[in-house]
Amino acid sequence: MRALVKEAPGEGLALRELPVPDPAPDEVLIRVRRTGLCGTDLHIWSWDEWAARTVPLPLVIGHEFAGTIAALGRDVPAAFPDLHEGMRVSGEGHLIGRTSRQSRSGRFHLDPETRGIGVQVPGAFADYLRLPAFNAVPLPEAIDDEIGAILDPLGNAVHTALSFDLVGEDVLVTGAGPIGIMAAAVARHVGARHVVITDPNPRRRALARAVSGAVAVDPSAEDLREVARRLGMVQGFDVGLEMSGSQAALDAMVDSLVMGGRIALLGIPPGKSPVDWSRIVFKAITIKGVYGREIFETWYKMIAMLENGLDVRGVITHRLPAEEFARGFAAMRAGEAGKVVLDWT
Ligand code: NAD
Ligand code: ZN
Repeated sequence: MRALVKEAPGEGLALRELPVPDPAPDEVLIRVRRTGLCGTDLHIWSWDEWAARTVPLPLVIGHEFAGTIAALGRDVPAAFPDLHEGMRVSGEGHLIGRTSRQSRSGRFHLDPETRGIGVQVPGAFADYLRLPAFNAVPLPEAIDDEIGAILDPLGNAVHTALSFDLVGEDVLVTGAGPIGIMAAAVARHVGARHVVITDPNPRRRALARAVSGAVAVDPSAEDLREVARRLGMVQGFDVGLEMSGSQAALDAMVDSLVMGGRIALLGIPPGKSPVDWSRIVFKAITIKGVYGREIFETWYKMIAMLENGLDVRGVITHRLPAEEFARGFAAMRAGEAGKVVLDWT
């Protein structure tokens, strides 16, 4: 099978021929049809400090995928009678342990022993993927393979957006990367009043407007408190979804929130970043760190929303054959891309 492999330290990835793996007794073998490129994959491509510390070499990378079940491990038919060969699936890329307190109380997404496919164990950028049957998520007719391949980042967006009640609220999203754009679309879908999204990159603001219908603002040109006033907010935004990892964005968010406002933080700042905690205390702001997505509640909610009209297809800007992966990474690097989807069929 073809597979995109990180073979050695340094930049880049190699497309190699590898044997098709056999599924373990509790696994399914998936014929991968579409995969999504993620910021994480770009970190691995570039081989930054995080990648060097985290990724064992050599490794097949990739964690955003959709495909069909090609084979079932020996124990799967009895343990997961709903899964069968030929079924279209996506899946949760976090492989959880079963012994931690969090896991045993059903809070699977908080298991500290989690390992990621395509990060610590072989991933999805290949013709075939082995995955624990527990992690497979069947796809309904309404969700085609390319949307199936971006459910992982949509899950980040949904998990973050649903952290707080958004009905009738004024919502600020900072960072119009693919996840920020999808979070803005989710906020509008679930009934927020005003949704404003910020990004200094004009291409990303244009994409955000087109996909989510949110008001897109250049944070270097417009003061958010001014934007809030223009839209008729009396005090400011009720809820902030931080999706840029930028210190300046978090500062502006704290500034433009109401007293008692709530912030969900998904963006990952590079290293330590100074925070003016006194403003957060005096404004009585609640901050929630968000990692991954809830297993499997977020999957349930996002599939239901896609079935009842949530449309995020516009966030996919590049569709490329798997062999042209390098073009996809180049577009991501240049800030030209929303989601890049590779075709493995
Ligand atoms: P991305 O890098 O594509 O998008 C980030 C956007 O933020 C860019 O468009 C950039 O121009 C914009 N930005 C930079 N400075 C800004 C500022 N001052 N104000 C507003 N916007 C600004 O990222 P993505 O793939 O959409 O992911 C969003 C964030 O979430 C990243 O920080 C990523 O590392 C993080 N992430 C976290 C998790 C998690 O589980 N916590 C999972 C996936 C991604
Ligand atoms: Zn991802």
